[in-house]
Amino acid sequence: MHQTNTTTDNRQSLPDRETMYAALVQRDSSYEGVFVAAIRTTGIFCRPSCSARKPKPENVEYFPDAKTALAHGYRECKICRPLVSLGSPPDWLQPLIEEVEQDATIRLKAEDLRERGLDPVRVRRWFQKLHGMSFASYLRMRRINQAFSQLQHKSPVTDAALESGYESLSGFGEGFKKAMGTAPAHSNGQTVIHVSRILTPLGPMLAGATEQGICLLEFADRRMLETQLNRLQKRLNARALPGDSRFFTQLDGQLQAYFAGKRTEFTLPLITAGTEFQEKVWEALRTIPWGTTRSYSEQAEIIGQPTAVRAVARANGDNRIAILIPCHRVIGADGTLTGYGGGLWRKKRLLEIEQGKNAPSK
Ligand SMILES: [Zn+2]
Repeated sequence: MHQTNTTTDNRQSLPDRETMYAALVQRDSSYEGVFVAAIRTTGIFCRPSCSARKPKPENVEYFPDAKTALAHGYRECKICRPLVSLGSPPDWLQPLIEEVEQDATIRLKAEDLRERGLDPVRVRRWFQKLHGMSFASYLRMRRINQAFSQLQHKSPVTDAALESGYESLSGFGEGFKKAMGTAPAHSNGQTVIHVSRILTPLGPMLAGATEQGICLLEFADRRMLETQLNRLQKRLNARALPGDSRFFTQLDGQLQAYFAGKRTEFTLPLITAGTEFQEKVWEALRTIPWGTTRSYSEQAEIIGQPTAVRAVARANGDNRIAILIPCHRVIGADGTLTGYGGGLWRKKRLLEIEQGKNAPSK
């Protein structure tokens, strides 16, 4: 696993590890809301005051909040219930929280909430206010984590067992289907997309690679992630499985250099698997030099379809290989950043890094 880089945004605001570990051991409730503790060996995260048996200090990772722990692939503890900790949920929300806690792969749309007598807007607001994410994105991250739970928090022993093949992941297919809505496997001879998590200074990303090259790189909290994964599996007639790829080590290294402002180009083979139009748009994106930007209309000109500005913008948004295919270098004609699948703050940071402005400290 490529979880070697422990630099993430906003971790600086946490107390030091010794203090947090002491709080964890003493079940000190005064640290509620200050941090959550994620346990590498089990893949779950807890409140400081959790009554569960305490892990060894070296197995604990600390995050400022539940959202960040989820983005790093952890699932919430059923004992201390970190998502309902601060200002426990109001009565009207209790049944929903309980239902969701029982099923890590649950999908609930607005109409499902209405059927349960709940106002979807109210539910979203409560999650947004307490956890800085919408209810939908909370469910989505849990499904992704469920589908790929085997890909992180593996002990070296499990790693060794997995090297002999995927047999030890039997049952994974079912879990994956339930979590992702698609079956990962049917026949032999299907392409395998190995999926792993790569940590960057802008948060964890999910990377995917086939034998031929990198086919996916997305921020783990991105709204479109599940859709993108499913599309990719269909287009490549492939199944996504947790696992390592020879490309991930290179990718990790090149990304770290990029974030340090020391790399302006990536030299990895990319598997884009788009429509003819998307391929044209993505190819044009790769011609935008590091440190510069273009407008959507300029991009439309370049592909010879000057009136297709909106279609170009859409194809931009459908890019599955963030950073390496630099869709963040396309901005509005008036210089505004417009949209970015990974969040506008990330687009801003990426452009700042490329302009040599306060690269994040490593
Ligand atoms: Zn707990």
